[in-house]
Amino acid sequence: MDLTFTAAEEQFRSECRAWLHANVPRGLPSGDTREGFALHLDWERALFDARYAVVSWPEAYGGRDASPMEWLIFEEEYYRAGGPQRVTQNGIFLLAPTVFEYGTQAQKDHILPRMARGDDLWCQGWSEPNAGSDLAGIQSRAERDDAAGGWRLSGQKTWTTRGAFCTHLFGLFRSDPEAERHRGLTYFLLPLDAPGVTVRGFGRLDGDEGFAEVFLDDVFVPDDGVLGGVHDGWSVAMATASAERGLTLRSPGRFLAAADRLVDLFRDYEETADPNLRDAVIRAAIDAEAYRWQTFLTVTRMTSGENVGAEASMTKVFWSELDVRIHETALALLGANAEVDDGGTASAASGWMKGYQFALSGPIYAGTNEIQRNVIAERVLGLPRR
Ligand SMILES: Cc1cc2nc3c(=O)[nH]c(=O)nc-3n(C[C@H](O)[C@H](O)[C@H](O)COP(=O)(O)OP(=O)(O)OC[C@H]3O[C@@H](n4cnc5c(N)ncnc54)[C@H](O)[C@@H]3O)c2cc1C
Repeated sequence: MDLTFTAAEEQFRSECRAWLHANVPRGLPSGDTREGFALHLDWERALFDARYAVVSWPEAYGGRDASPMEWLIFEEEYYRAGGPQRVTQNGIFLLAPTVFEYGTQAQKDHILPRMARGDDLWCQGWSEPNAGSDLAGIQSRAERDDAAGGWRLSGQKTWTTRGAFCTHLFGLFRSDPEAERHRGLTYFLLPLDAPGVTVRGFGRLDGDEGFAEVFLDDVFVPDDGVLGGVHDGWSVAMATASAERGLTLRSPGRFLAAADRLVDLFRDYEETADPNLRDAVIRAAIDAEAYRWQTFLTVTRMTSGENVGAEASMTKVFWSELDVRIHETALALLGANAEVDDGGTASAASGWMKGYQFALSGPIYAGTNEIQRNVIAERVLGLPRR
């Protein structure tokens, strides 16, 4: 493997760095509040206007045709510059790769440019009150309406991230109750203002209204709202899950930036800090760097045509546990000061408590780490199911 960047990649990095340095907004409120979400959307639209919203997509859909390596470079520069979380992430990082893979040409042409511009904002409607880890246990149903040329959806989704602020939902529904549970599912795309949809936002641990419950009561979705094959939703959903666990949702740039901030924090607190924390800081910096190089290897394998498949589960366990460790170390350095949250990210000391509360959810969302370990045991290591 060639560990040097090409001249074109270095050039791309410099362009991204200069633009981001000049344009990244400072001190945005949380994107999981209504007011913050609107401000984050302004930022998303500025990214789109500069063609930085979806760099890896084709130019026709608002991207730059960037290679996977260039996308990683963009991500590094984005977080290095202090770029905020992407409130469009569930669309651009989860749904979009699945639309590219399974969508019809008409779906791609309609959905992707609107998603890139931030016109349509997508949330993920998978979990239900009685189906989280056991996703194939979902009970929300889709009934065929031949006369109207579509489907009628009913049921309840929960834990829908930013559902209260989004305009559209992608979700899994049971379309054939007689079939084996993984086979009778269909993947639907629908607007949240369709008649029969009720969205109820609710608070998270940190108080932000980051979640919603979505109730569907006989909601009509035309046939072109089906992504992939009818009753084939499980395979389509697994493509989304692999983007969620693997490369796109949490690239190394985010953790490299957090580890850098941790090193800065350590320098500020070095004189008073428990000397043992030095090891934890160094480990965080090394682990973030290791994740970076591991990802370069993954991208190299993927671009050579290899399918990384279930190994995405190893990535997910690694980044989610790394994120918790980075934040725990920061709180230990800060001591009682961790409780003082100025709400911003201006100094090395700010924002860690909120970041910690969110990091705690990393081992849960995108499939819990216990489930990932089951996948690793069975599908990567080939261990017996029982
Ligand atoms: C921040 C955050 C954002 C989220 N956003 C969304 C979203 O946008 N859309 C959406 O649909 N969902 C979302 N979720 C929900 C998430 O997908 C579920 O919480 C997750 O899949 C776990 O399901 P559950 O909460 O029902 O827990 P359960 O499945 O009930 O699990 C409870 C515990 O049992 C363990 N467990 C369960 N089954 C097994 C098993 N077979 N082997 C070993 N251990 C097992 C789990 O690991 C866990 O520790 C989000 C969750 C969080 C925390």
